[in-house]
Amino acid sequence: MNKKQKNLLLRILSAAACVAVLLLCDRMIPAWYIKLLLYMIPYLIVGHDILKKAWKGIRNRQVFDENFLMTVATFGAIAVGIYNATHGGDDDYLEAVAVMLLYQVGELFQSYAVGRSRRNISDLMDIRPDYANIEEDGELVRVDPDEVEVGSLIVVQPGERIPLDGVVESGSSTLNTAALTGESLPREVSEGSEVLSGCINQSGVLTIRTTKEADESTASKILDLVENAASRKSKSENFISKFARYYTPIVCYAALALALLPPIFLAVTGRNPMISEWLYRACTFLVISCPCAVVINIPLSFFAGLGAASSQGILIKGSNYLEAMAQVRCLVFDKTSTITRGNFEVSAIHHTLLEEEKLLEYAAHIECHSSHPISLSLQHAYGKHVDAGRVTDIQEISGRGVTGKVDGVPVAAGNAGLMKDLDIPYKDCHHPGTIVHMAIDGKYAGHIVISDEIKPSSADAIAELKKAGVRKTVMLTGDSEKTAQAVAGQVGIDEVHAGLLPADKVSLVETLLTQTGRNEKLAFVGDGINDAPVLSRADIGIAMGALGSDAAIEAADVVLMDDDPLKITKAIRISRKCLRIVHENLIFSLGIKVICLILGAVGIANMWIAIIADVGVMILAVLNAIRALFADR
Ligand code: ADP
Ligand code: MG
Repeated sequence: MNKKQKNLLLRILSAAACVAVLLLCDRMIPAWYIKLLLYMIPYLIVGHDILKKAWKGIRNRQVFDENFLMTVATFGAIAVGIYNATHGGDDDYLEAVAVMLLYQVGELFQSYAVGRSRRNISDLMDIRPDYANIEEDGELVRVDPDEVEVGSLIVVQPGERIPLDGVVESGSSTLNTAALTGESLPREVSEGSEVLSGCINQSGVLTIRTTKEADESTASKILDLVENAASRKSKSENFISKFARYYTPIVCYAALALALLPPIFLAVTGRNPMISEWLYRACTFLVISCPCAVVINIPLSFFAGLGAASSQGILIKGSNYLEAMAQVRCLVFDKTSTITRGNFEVSAIHHTLLEEEKLLEYAAHIECHSSHPISLSLQHAYGKHVDAGRVTDIQEISGRGVTGKVDGVPVAAGNAGLMKDLDIPYKDCHHPGTIVHMAIDGKYAGHIVISDEIKPSSADAIAELKKAGVRKTVMLTGDSEKTAQAVAGQVGIDEVHAGLLPADKVSLVETLLTQTGRNEKLAFVGDGINDAPVLSRADIGIAMGALGSDAAIEAADVVLMDDDPLKITKAIRISRKCLRIVHENLIFSLGIKVICLILGAVGIANMWIAIIADVGVMILAVLNAIRALFADR
């Protein structure tokens, strides 16, 4: 509980104690106005901020809110008490105080629950680095990660969290990445491995040279993203704020009509107008109509849903995307690193005029600045030091390959499309796999065949998606038709488009978007390398294996922290459960409201029932919302 909540709790308790004393001494109070004054003490203790907020609302011309409803209703109840007292009836002010008191109990509960679930999201992602160890004169000193400069050496001991992104300088260990990915499989690291902040060092001491500042490190980026997620409002939340804008004034006018029309009618027809009775009913009506339970449960359910997702390593950037995930009917996949591992291995080298070693050397050098998985595998296959200083005029052509100069000699590496663009005759290959054609000094110099593995869970993931009601699965790739068909066939994807440039992927997604129904959504899943435009064009852009890929974290709406395509169905399941809870709560709380409103209008429900129903419904709704936190466990 924070200070504000403790304060409110204290006020509630002291007001309740006051009321108890007043009830015990009821007989000893000599006159109705003294009793009124005495009851005003707990009333003001517990409700003064509501009165103040209502007054502020009136002054700012935003009259109709819950504070206003509560103020008018309790003032009305006090007025009824005074009227009764001066007309020889019962002087009862308890009701007004009790309504205020219970309303505040509800408020306290609500702010506690919202605070809890908001914190829960970042708690679940318990990755905030607290300190970094720096070696000074042979001793380890703890410093704030913010103060560590890029390129510094930090020491991470077993059991400690890695505070900053970097590269292992010495030592080896296993890392627990569960906080980032939701997976408990440990990752082995040793000299030269890249490590990400937020992981926990399990076994050995690691000395790490930092590559990023604290703000730029993975852990901070992810926390930012998670903490801002709730500010992107879902459609249901927008609906509710619109709803409250019309609902509250309507209710107020209805209450006014209820207070005035029947007495006027009774008076005109010559009967007793029963002014206090109708005023009381109008006040009851106001209390019942207070929309707190309805208003609170929606953002709360979404908080909980976002939390459930992030604990599984699925970061959703806003409630709107969580909502949209439930309606995904068409899923479009990128091939490389999405369906396949993206760990290419060189499997053959053909038709080369040079030595294979020499060809690989050219390939590794020309690719030295590319972050494409192909580039990484070529450098891996070359295995020797790549001297970036030998390379000039590099141009990476998305979906085609790379051109540039190595030692001043023009070199091109890429697919058949690139060779056609450069007007260089090339030799086709019948090997299965992705072909990197090489041209050196304007002449064809052979090709390198590299092959990629399909992820073990890809086929299951597609089957799961079909089970979850996804109608259509499509694979887009810049790779050749043959490789694409082979992969799609193995995993069971419905539709394949190959040989695409990033721009073609965008236009294909646009065509697919026109084919999806009105309440259906299209999601694109990619690795964030050269498919950022498509990620942002789809209804939902899902970036996969985004650990460490900044571009993907920026461009995507949903980030899957590990490479597992099964997480897509999981995200859909969580979002559906969350939405179901939202709808349940909406129907339940609105239903109870309507019933109470009718009972209140005909005079069956009194103010006690009204406030208890309201607070009760709210508490039940909040508890139901919290259920979303445990979605898909
Ligand atoms: P995908 O659609 O499978 O993710 P990309 O659009 O990233 O593939 O790339 C499409 C094709 O372009 C690759 O299959 C490869 O033939 C070629 N290509 C792209 N980048 C490179 C590169 N850096 N080096 C060599 N070839 C490349
Ligand atoms: Mg790609």
